[in-house]
Amino acid sequence: MRRHCLLAVMLLAACRDTTSHVREFDGPAAFRYIETQVGFGPRIPGTEAHRRAARWLDSLLRQRADTVIVQSWTHVTAAGDSLPLTNFVARFRPGAAKRLLFLAHWDSRPTADSPTSPDSTKPVPGANDGGSGVATLLGVADVLKRTPPSIGVDLLFVDGEDYGDFTKTPKDVLIGSRYYAAHPAPGPQPLYAVLFDLVADKDLQIFEEGNSLVGAPEVVELVWNTAKDLGYAGTFEATPKHTLIDDHLELQKAGIRAIDVVDFDYPSWHTKDDTIDKVSAASLQIVGDVAVALVRREGE
Ligand SMILES: [Zn+2]
Repeated sequence: MRRHCLLAVMLLAACRDTTSHVREFDGPAAFRYIETQVGFGPRIPGTEAHRRAARWLDSLLRQRADTVIVQSWTHVTAAGDSLPLTNFVARFRPGAAKRLLFLAHWDSRPTADSPTSPDSTKPVPGANDGGSGVATLLGVADVLKRTPPSIGVDLLFVDGEDYGDFTKTPKDVLIGSRYYAAHPAPGPQPLYAVLFDLVADKDLQIFEEGNSLVGAPEVVELVWNTAKDLGYAGTFEATPKHTLIDDHLELQKAGIRAIDVVDFDYPSWHTKDDTIDKVSAASLQIVGDVAVALVRREGE
């Protein structure tokens, strides 16, 4: 009996799937992109894991995008250290005037210094913080390689988001997005930009973010409505909760309509427990489906 019900539900879901949208994003494949990143170790600027992750990203993006822009520079920290940093911009249809920008940070945090962290001498493994946003963007790159978009899409992987202290050394955080805002890809600005951060928590709940509502409320509405249309209103809660300092603010300052899609209710945030067992392919599937739907709806 139970099995029959389940089968009926699955058939219904399958029917609905073919009538409303074709599922293009591959959640399990995106999950493997998190596994690979965690396998490198913490992607802290200046470390071998960071260099290996950079080579991996560069290679994957060149196989998928029409063009890849690599931005490399040296950042001198408040403590006087020199950090080698790199942003990647994977461009689909670089000549198209109508475009979207999706971004995520690919570095991971050197210190697990959350107020709830049991050990702040350890780095953050970054399965969710860093790993999930990159996995989402790479999953979108796979989709756009298979079926190219009819609009332009830029996938921006920023470095140095999470290096310093957000209150004591603000110049040592959001470094890559600040750099990109000062050195944007050539051509017209995107219609809007969506930052994906902490989007693979097994217990995924994405509330509207305060600075996104201030800077680009119409983009928040569009993204949450898109999620609702896909049947994800239970995950994308259409109410504000947290207000965060994140990469979207640096783009907003440069005049880009940028918002943050982020699940900040994540107990392992900035602890050594931000590990692969806390994230899921099912959560990536939801966020990835929304991202792809945003691209497809602008192309209609
Ligand atoms: Zn972080």
